[in-house]
Amino acid sequence: MIERREFYIDGAWVAPTASRDFTVINPSTEEPAAVISLGGEADTNAAVAAANRAFADWSTTAPDERIAIVERALEIYLRRKDEMGDLISLEMGAPRTMARRSQADECNIVDALAAARDFHWLRPTDPKTPGSMIAMEAIGTIGMITPWNWPISQVTLKVFPALLAGCTMVLKPSEYAPLDAMLLADILHEAGVPKGVFNLVNGDGEGVGTQLSRHPGIDMISFTGSTRAGIAITKAAADSLKRVSLELGGKGANIVFADADDRAVQRGVRHCFNNTGQSCNAPTRMLVERSIYDRAVETAREVAEATRVGPAHEEGPHIGPLVNERQFDRVQALIQKGIDEGARLVAGGVGRPEGLNRGFFVRPTVFADVVPGMTVEREEIFGPVLSMIPFDTEEEAIAIANDTPYGLTNYVQSQNGARRNRLARRLRSGMVEMNGKSRGAGAPFGGVKASGLAREGGVWGLEEYLTPKSISDWAAE
Ligand code: NAD
Repeated sequence: MIERREFYIDGAWVAPTASRDFTVINPSTEEPAAVISLGGEADTNAAVAAANRAFADWSTTAPDERIAIVERALEIYLRRKDEMGDLISLEMGAPRTMARRSQADECNIVDALAAARDFHWLRPTDPKTPGSMIAMEAIGTIGMITPWNWPISQVTLKVFPALLAGCTMVLKPSEYAPLDAMLLADILHEAGVPKGVFNLVNGDGEGVGTQLSRHPGIDMISFTGSTRAGIAITKAAADSLKRVSLELGGKGANIVFADADDRAVQRGVRHCFNNTGQSCNAPTRMLVERSIYDRAVETAREVAEATRVGPAHEEGPHIGPLVNERQFDRVQALIQKGIDEGARLVAGGVGRPEGLNRGFFVRPTVFADVVPGMTVEREEIFGPVLSMIPFDTEEEAIAIANDTPYGLTNYVQSQNGARRNRLARRLRSGMVEMNGKSRGAGAPFGGVKASGLAREGGVWGLEEYLTPKSISDWAAE
């Protein structure tokens, strides 16, 4: 079993001030995989103090120097990428090949570097007013709180733009998936990130999460996780007037028109089940034009029944378990709720898949004839559960898609370009992905409404950590 009880503070791994062990469970076996510590107030304070001390120097280093350090970190990351994938697979159950390829993908580091290389840190306000300049400056010390579902991806989306912007930081990764972030701390150490710039304290939401949110030494909280915790953090942060950047949940609609390509339904179901349905941007509501609805339900059933479920260490295409017992119980209860409220169960259902008696495995589940307003249509389930809803007109599809508290990603499948463009503008979400094409590199990730108040990735991700300073009578250099 892995033992990693220390925190990374001020450039070194240090023992927690009071020992409070937390066991990370391997969700494929329900056996202990690692033991970490949960930090307390004194650990949080030490990390914040270190980050505050490091800020003056780091925020005023030349951007090229920061870029060079991040380039070194990227090289080391690539060398240790498989190890990163294996840790993620162990702690949150993503199949090993998928974890190495997708979960541990370095694209966020590459994108942040590209944005920083082209960035204008000092720019004229207006050519008609000589000497009037805007300097884009680091916001300060950032508290980062991240979830377990795409653990290193959520961490790299924050840490690298913040480093490049000149911010210092204290990261609290999810207590259920902390090992990947601890490996990243080792990578940043080896890359030569100066002491105090990056700090990591493990802990839970009630402890370190809340302490960071309230801390007067933290200038901004960057949070990814549930809408519930996002609201709690915003309230806790209010008295110290810090910025709060939130990436929250979703309940994406995937609108499939009769003229969609042949693979649209199959692609949509697979996308919904990817990462065992534990993705904020999963297309969990499939809205299908009535003329092809029965065929689409049949295809969804076939895809669900053909989806192999198994332990994370197994090879070949499959989905792994859910992350923990709490999520397992929650997803089981929501599947039961779907049945009780009268949705038609087409595939899957409650209980584990056949032959899997241990591990937090669930059956890939498809509900048809879901009526807007049913619990499975409204709540983010965070499991491999698809809700299918027929529609008759484009207007009706838009109304159903938008009738949700969330607004992260919506999806459209149609060969009609004019219709796609209409839908892209009318769907209320931060992202609209059409015909299976994902966002371009450097495009911002983020939502509207209950899905959050942030944009991560590319130039937008860098600007999250910067604030403009207006300067007059700047002397030409
Ligand atoms: P969670 O909100 O329970 O936990 C996320 C993090 O917040 C963890 O580190 C946790 O310890 C901490 N936390 C919990 N309560 C807190 C509190 N009151 N104060 C401070 N910190 C607190 O979420 P989760 O279960 O780890 O992750 C799943 C959720 O994350 C889903 O809702 C999913 O949609 C969302 N998510 C959103 C995005 C996005 O970019 N929009 C990406 C991934 C996941």
